[in-house]
Amino acid sequence: MIIAIDGPAASGKGTLGKRLAAHFGFAHLDTGLLYRAVARTLLDRGLDLTDEAAATDAALNLDVGHLDDDSRLRGAEMGEAASVVSAFQPVRDALLAFQRQFGARPPGAVLDGRDIGTVVCPNADVKLFITATPEERARRRHRELAGRGETVAYESILADIRRRDERDMNRATAPLKAASDALTLDTTHLDAEATFQAALGLVEARIG
Ligand code: C5P
Repeated sequence: MIIAIDGPAASGKGTLGKRLAAHFGFAHLDTGLLYRAVARTLLDRGLDLTDEAAATDAALNLDVGHLDDDSRLRGAEMGEAASVVSAFQPVRDALLAFQRQFGARPPGAVLDGRDIGTVVCPNADVKLFITATPEERARRRHRELAGRGETVAYESILADIRRRDERDMNRATAPLKAASDALTLDTTHLDAEATFQAALGLVEARIG
């Protein structure tokens, strides 16, 4: 069984994905980490983020075993950098097989990202599209970064979120959008627990 979760930056899909996976005893993949890791490889090598060949090479040779180990991956700088390299079709192609194999893990998997319901797992059993206003997402990201000791001004986070939304929604390849059969959940006025309960209700209603 596959649960696909898509949505914009800081919409709460990662936290939700983790909780749904724990609830059902499924594996969880935060696919944003793959693109963040590709960007990190380029930055570590002093290469330009717009170097498509280098980004493709990094994606093809990505060590997917240790994605969770590096807190720098989750920082604001890497999110922005990831949205640049993720627009390259060959980069996305290079990461596709791994994501699909992950989705096939028994007894089930939860994948979250931007194109899970539309491209990676179009046959997912349940597709959720998680949204919230840019201002609320910026507030959440601000709290999260502060909790990790990263001090970034709220206005700059909001600008980053708007820029990433714009880039992710308007790119030619796998743009961020809800699959036609996705269930949309607006979490602007929901905390993590309420989001989980609402999503669980949607999942249970869909799988019967
Ligand atoms: O979800 P997260 O903020 O970690 O994603 C970082 C960036 O990676 C996104 O802004 C998006 O450009 C890209 N991404 C993507 N497709 C995915 C997951 C993330 O293009 N499935």
